[in-house]
Amino acid sequence: MAAEEPVGPGVGEAGSGEAATALRQAGAAEGSITEIGGGAVGIRAGKRWEVLAWTPRGAASPKGITGASSEKAGGTLITGPADHANAVALRALIPSLRPRLLGGATSAGVGDRLGIATPGHVAAFRANPGIVPVLAQQSARELARTGRTFRDVVDAATFGALAAGWREGFGADADHLKTIADIDAGIDAGCTMFTADPVELVPHLPADAPQAAIDGAFAAVPWAALEDDPAAFMTRYPARLDLDCGPLELPPAALHAAAARFGAAVVQVAKMYRHLAAARPAGSFEFEVAVDEIEHRTTPIDHVYLATELHRLGARWESFAPRFVGDFEKGIDYVGDKAEFAADVEIHAAIARHLGDYKLSVHSGSDKFSIYDAVAKATRGRVHLKTSGTSYLVALQTIAAADPELMRRIWRVALDAYTTARASYHVSATAAGAPSPEEASPQVLAGLLDDPHTREILHVTYGAVLHGDGASGAGDPRLGDDLRAAVWTRREAYWAALEVHIGRHLRPFSGAGGGPVTKGATR
Ligand SMILES: [Zn+2]
Repeated sequence: MAAEEPVGPGVGEAGSGEAATALRQAGAAEGSITEIGGGAVGIRAGKRWEVLAWTPRGAASPKGITGASSEKAGGTLITGPADHANAVALRALIPSLRPRLLGGATSAGVGDRLGIATPGHVAAFRANPGIVPVLAQQSARELARTGRTFRDVVDAATFGALAAGWREGFGADADHLKTIADIDAGIDAGCTMFTADPVELVPHLPADAPQAAIDGAFAAVPWAALEDDPAAFMTRYPARLDLDCGPLELPPAALHAAAARFGAAVVQVAKMYRHLAAARPAGSFEFEVAVDEIEHRTTPIDHVYLATELHRLGARWESFAPRFVGDFEKGIDYVGDKAEFAADVEIHAAIARHLGDYKLSVHSGSDKFSIYDAVAKATRGRVHLKTSGTSYLVALQTIAAADPELMRRIWRVALDAYTTARASYHVSATAAGAPSPEEASPQVLAGLLDDPHTREILHVTYGAVLHGDGASGAGDPRLGDDLRAAVWTRREAYWAALEVHIGRHLRPFSGAGGGPVTKGATR
């Protein structure tokens, strides 16, 4: 007969017991105090986060928490660094700190390039209930530019969620993955959401591309890798789909163009999905297909093609990010015809309902206040919103008023780096006529966040600012550390500003609903 499983220690929020009292005396954030067995763990803000664990005399310390040991309130207090080992230990002790699945609920991802934003993000989600948060979200590109890893991102969200007393759980999105190695890094960090982006395999074939270019790309479609051939492909599709918003005709010429655009992309996304599905147990991860960073809009027929072919190859996904009509530039509101956008999101949402009831994912969601209502209405709550850079801009806003000289250094590096950085981002700002870093007054420096052009420049040059990526050759190697330290010092103001600003993003989706997502596309 097998030995009886020992009863695990009770895990609960802070009470009035001696352990909670000891941690309170040690300066733990109130919401973080979590009783475990006879002891408790928590976190406090020092020069950065410090992990705390207290146990009564003679009792074993909470498993895995390491740090300096001292006598406190008749027991032992461990004060440990906010490092990966302690993050792993906290996630083992407190289930709500382990990244979770989002399921069918309305959800939103909030990127945090500084690793400081989470308590502010949590405040915004608290104020706008009914949206499952992804508190750990960075793209492979953001990590390369900031010198961070997916582990750093998940760990920062872990500490922030504990500090904020957030017990509802959160997702962790390894965003805009291009390679199998990217998938593996996300798995290693404990991510639960994997966003595949095949942008590099998509030829530039906008709606007005010459027929010869489309034909040439169609001839180059890797049919064997698609486990398909052109004849079978053209007979696979019905003449029309009866969507709940009306019929969608599928003319052969449009399907031909979709295959020319996305054939190679389908191969890559299916490969990434199969790798993930082989490495992780079924039901332990969620997958997103993102084509939002492609230069041309995703037509409804492109969407039908991608969903049909990926499903045929065995891929399943919870969300799909098309490139919508109009301009989704970074960090500023939508540029384009709002009625045209509303019609576009309506048809993409109807296709998603028809082909598998997956969520539409709206990327570059930062500051697109004028279109959120249309998105919420069209998707009926089956939506995932991603914002990434806007929390970084709020950090700059927070320090701009308080520390003009630091803002001046940031602006100098940003302006120098812009020429390089803009090549890989969808932005239109030009540096011509922008204020000179040397001559700008504190008021002008603070106003850089309000002007759409200079705001975009600040938005896309975070790599040079945070990690001195050398794009400009202009050295300010301490700038990243100085910015993080300045924001940490003003963290309460930063979190309050995030609650307001991210709250504006979430409000249109709060209470929008969403239900269980049928796993992947089915027809
Ligand atoms: Zn994106």
